[in-house]
Amino acid sequence: MARGEDRRGWWTGVLDLVYPGVCHRCGDGVAGDGSLCEDCRDCLPSLREPFCRVCGEEFEGRIEGAFECPNCRDLEFAFEFARPALPNHPVLLGMIHELKYGRRIEIAAELGRLAGRAFAEDPRLAEALESGWPLVPVPLHRRRRLWRYFNQAEEIARALGEATGLPLCRALLRRVSTSSQTRLSRAQRLKNLKGAFALSREGKAFAAAGPPGAVLVDDVFTTGATTGECARLLRRSGVQKVVVVTVMRG
Ligand SMILES: [Zn+2]
Ligand SMILES: [Zn+2]
Repeated sequence: MARGEDRRGWWTGVLDLVYPGVCHRCGDGVAGDGSLCEDCRDCLPSLREPFCRVCGEEFEGRIEGAFECPNCRDLEFAFEFARPALPNHPVLLGMIHELKYGRRIEIAAELGRLAGRAFAEDPRLAEALESGWPLVPVPLHRRRRLWRYFNQAEEIARALGEATGLPLCRALLRRVSTSSQTRLSRAQRLKNLKGAFALSREGKAFAAAGPPGAVLVDDVFTTGATTGECARLLRRSGVQKVVVVTVMRG
């Protein structure tokens, strides 16, 4: 564990030399481990009401009170709700792509802090914050992790943990590598995900105590097929409530 952390520190140091802090949007210099300058960060809008209380899809126009979008009305998720911190935005999407496919691990720090807006702005997350529910990253299959060197959800959760004070718990493993699911129907996605996840040793110890809750963390919330399956496993294993926090709504 400690050695892994050391290696991370060393690797981040190398990346600082290769990629000096430059704003992802405007190219201005950036202090610290940020990937956006202050102005560009302020340009990124948080999720705005009204939005679906299940999936965080924003709605045009005026709607009074809590509501579910037509898509979620017919669906049953194992999590209480998913709360993307920000709506879909090209700058954010670019950063997430750079993190995942450009293997730019240092971008996770900025994305994790942005995800922290969900906790700052949504009172439904107060319980998780006050009770110290752990942040559980959606796992990556070993093979993909080897290719990328890291799990982006875990790196985002780590930074989110620093921003919120919540602990990180790598409770889940991915047993089955599913190739890109983006072109598949929801039914096909769900079928592929059956049995794709398992509890890690850390997860078994956590769930065995019947904890009150966990916060699943991912980069983007799209259909909820993956997070739903992870939540189902956690719930079945003894976790009483699962909520989902992501950086962005896909
Ligand atoms: Zn900028
Ligand atoms: Zn919805």
